[in-house]
Amino acid sequence: MLVVGAGGLGSPAALTLARSGVGRITLLDDDAVDETNLHRQILFDDDDVGLPKVERGAARLRAEGAEVEARSGRLLPGTALDHVADHDLVVEGADNFATKFLAVDACLRAGIPLVQAGVVRWTGWAFATVPGGGACLRCVFEDIPRDRVETCAGAGVIGAAVGVLGALEAALAIRLLLGDATAAGELWSFDGLAGSLRARPVRPRAGCLGCAGATHDLAPERYAPPADGAGRAELE
Ligand SMILES: [Zn+2]
Repeated sequence: MLVVGAGGLGSPAALTLARSGVGRITLLDDDAVDETNLHRQILFDDDDVGLPKVERGAARLRAEGAEVEARSGRLLPGTALDHVADHDLVVEGADNFATKFLAVDACLRAGIPLVQAGVVRWTGWAFATVPGGGACLRCVFEDIPRDRVETCAGAGVIGAAVGVLGALEAALAIRLLLGDATAAGELWSFDGLAGSLRARPVRPRAGCLGCAGATHDLAPERYAPPADGAGRAELE
């Protein structure tokens, strides 16, 4: 399994999956542990501050019994296919829409199931895409938002909400690994203030570029961040 991002989503997801018995995990991240993120990045503690997340996260997951490859890097148009190759499942917890769309396009092309989530403040979503198995993330969110959206840094993020969505990612991943095809194409929505958690099935959307294969080329311009920072909505 490949876990993209060892942040607020990737931390609880990877930890839960390692403890659930997922034996082999590749952890991909290019960042260092930051003290201000420790409340939600539960793979790390104070002693890890300033050190590479992949190395400290891998050490923590190995202590849970998993065989872990620590891969320092990011999912980029030129590297995404190499990173997802040879994995049976990808769990993505990046902090921006560009990486989320790149991940789904790469996994659709490679034919690899993908679990994703995003959080802002108290609300979030989780969704699993199985190539050829129904709706994809582009059926739900057509493309990277080009209008200004709230940023994690600007809007803030509640550690407990991130924990819920990271655990939901782990739950979806386990269901897929157990062969439960109904886990794909369900949009999970969580609102920590309203006290709601629900899942609704998503139908494949007519004209979806992802389902049509039109995004399989992973053209770099498709994932270029907007100059004004719009599209950086989802937390880590
Ligand atoms: Zn689609």
